[in-house]
Amino acid sequence: MQNSDSSEGKIDFAGLSDEYKFLKSEIDTRVNAVLNHGRYIMGPEIAELESALADFCGAKHAVSCASGTDALTMIMLAEEVKSGDCVFMPSFTFTATAEVVVLHGLTPVFVDVDPDNYNLDLIDLRAKIAEVKEQGVHRPRAILAADLFGLPCDYKALRAIADEHDMLVWSDAAQSFGASIDNRKVGTLTNITATSFFPAKPLGCYGDGGAVFTNDDDLAEALKSIRMHGKGREKYDIVRIGINSRLDTIQAAVLLAKLPHFADHVSRRNAIARSYDALLSGVVKTPLLHESRTSAWAQYTIQVSPDSRDALADSLREKGIPTAVYYPRPMHLQTAYTRFGKGPGSLPVSEALSQSVLSLPMNPYLTDEQVDRIGNAIRAWVKPALSV
Ligand SMILES: *Cc1c(COP(=O)(O)O)cnc(C)c1O
Repeated sequence: MQNSDSSEGKIDFAGLSDEYKFLKSEIDTRVNAVLNHGRYIMGPEIAELESALADFCGAKHAVSCASGTDALTMIMLAEEVKSGDCVFMPSFTFTATAEVVVLHGLTPVFVDVDPDNYNLDLIDLRAKIAEVKEQGVHRPRAILAADLFGLPCDYKALRAIADEHDMLVWSDAAQSFGASIDNRKVGTLTNITATSFFPAKPLGCYGDGGAVFTNDDDLAEALKSIRMHGKGREKYDIVRIGINSRLDTIQAAVLLAKLPHFADHVSRRNAIARSYDALLSGVVKTPLLHESRTSAWAQYTIQVSPDSRDALADSLREKGIPTAVYYPRPMHLQTAYTRFGKGPGSLPVSEALSQSVLSLPMNPYLTDEQVDRIGNAIRAWVKPALSV
């Protein structure tokens, strides 16, 4: 074969159109059932999905809701946070992680991340907690850890740090549902976990959706109340301030069709990550593969020098290979959040990563040939001598 890295059709970044082609009959059947019974809000698919999700990950309770952002919001409401308290979170994350904290009157404290696995840097986390305690203005209340790109954080270590300071540990697992540590799945790694079913997440529906997982019966009951305006035993008995955040029955139907394939999809993503790793390690900085931790590989993210990243992305685009930059700016340097941070230079790893990361196509429908084509195109660009 010659020209294996030249354009041979456009590669799909998240694989959503391929997925619908493969799962069309199962998805159509499930969605049509909803159209026929007409119970669009809290139809029978909701309870069916919740029990299937809980079974899948081993959590006692799964409470579905309207988005990953709402799942985080529901955690704050269920945990009855007090305004002014501090929540420690990574600066290198999607903005939703931070916005819910601020919207609840909490003070976000941005923490730097580990350059190898993109999750909270435990040394910086300890330093930031000590700083807040020394200032004595805000009470350290919780660690909100984000499993960036699909790799679960080291929750055992986070739990130990939180215990020293009587803090809660919340998981933003929007990108990591399906991942595990030592065979314990995301959803069970900490007391309360939020995930997202945004279409491009590892388990996505065809609109917005999310869920919260917990083993705690009281929290589960609170979450079910919160997503329906704070209802008590009856709909018009209001026992707390809640929100409207039900998952649409039609989205539950899509997820019920996809869930039986999800374990295979996560395995395929892991196989693709290993292929990328074989092609690219030593060529660019590849993500660290952990023995005891399985990633859900929401993204496969490489690092290249900041002055060549855009040129590499352009060159790949010309070959039909889409890429994305998650995230071009850390939270502490975002206009809306600068008042919570200490400006440029204060979180050097997050700042450097925002200049050097590049996420490659990742979805279970990529073929081995496509993965080779992507890997070889990057090798040829970085080290022309390797391309033959
Ligand atoms: C996607 C995402 C969210 C928000 O999920 P939505 O369903 O889009 O509201 C929150 N945190 C992280 C880290 C995410 O990637």
